[in-house]
Amino acid sequence: MIITLKRKATKQEENKVIEKIKKLGYIPHISRGVDITIIGMIGELAEKYRDLFESMDEVDHISEIEKPYKLASREFKHDDTIIKLPYGIKIGGKKVPIIAGPCAIESKSVLDEIAKIVKAGGGTILRGGAYKPRSSPYTFQGLGEKGLKFLHDVGLKYKIPTISEAMSVEQVPLVSKYCDIVQIGARNIQNYDLLKACGKQKKPVLLKRGMATTIKEWLLSAEYILSQGNYNVMLCERGIRTFETATRFTLDLNAIPVVKKLTHLPVVLDPSHGIGIREHVPTMAKACLAVGADAIALEIHPRPEEALSDGAQSLLPDQYKKLVADLKRIAEALDREI
Ligand code: PEP
Ligand code: MN
Repeated sequence: MIITLKRKATKQEENKVIEKIKKLGYIPHISRGVDITIIGMIGELAEKYRDLFESMDEVDHISEIEKPYKLASREFKHDDTIIKLPYGIKIGGKKVPIIAGPCAIESKSVLDEIAKIVKAGGGTILRGGAYKPRSSPYTFQGLGEKGLKFLHDVGLKYKIPTISEAMSVEQVPLVSKYCDIVQIGARNIQNYDLLKACGKQKKPVLLKRGMATTIKEWLLSAEYILSQGNYNVMLCERGIRTFETATRFTLDLNAIPVVKKLTHLPVVLDPSHGIGIREHVPTMAKACLAVGADAIALEIHPRPEEALSDGAQSLLPDQYKKLVADLKRIAEALDREI
């Protein structure tokens, strides 16, 4: 149920409604426009309080959002969400940050070497997995908390925000403590306890689309995080599984205009996992920008043949540098900036 307050409602009037919602055991979700504030009161049985709120002087009217995802929808919040990160980096505005780094954090020295390349090449966010969701239990599983500490230290040294994945509820506080963005991987998109745990902590969350997740399911997973009061959620398209085996996944570029019409949340694109072939990553990265990406995530490695995971799709430093330079030129034509 969406409660629209009277035009130019005062803080006091707003608080009266908020307190009533809290008293009934619901979380008030507030969206402030220039003159109009709307408050979402969402949950089973919220409807039964419709008359109660409708009769309040502070309330203009009550409405419903038809879509199953409420807080993620453009009906709840018309304007694009802009997520603020340290060092003045924003995701969701005119600028398109480049998220780059290794698939996995392998050692402090390699991470430091890569961070230098990321920064010098024009990247603005450093990625690196410490907990790795590997298909085989016999391959490198990540450095765990030690890796997160390396990421934290290197991020501080290069003054660059960081992102890393949490695979379980227990890992959420650790990733949240050491990193600036918590990543939820494709394989965990419907791990609802994990999504709720991300919603209860304060750091922004990057939610990767599952390889067999519909757009509706993807937005409903985002809703799980939003419903807990964390509104800094970005979606990430990273390729879905189709009948095609010549590429690692099929990057669903179709989804981007569709999702952007449905939601105000920023959309990040990951061409590295999407195609999985180093040689073709730059081409797809350019397509990502053209289709409306709010950020682009790239895996890079100075010696991909030695990489402990995803070497085949990791860009070499020179490829990365040239790609970011090309993206800058394309961004200009699209009225965006890198
Ligand atoms: C990753 O970003 O390294 C990763 C494992 O991604 P995904 O969850 O999209 O497979
Ligand atoms: Mn990877």
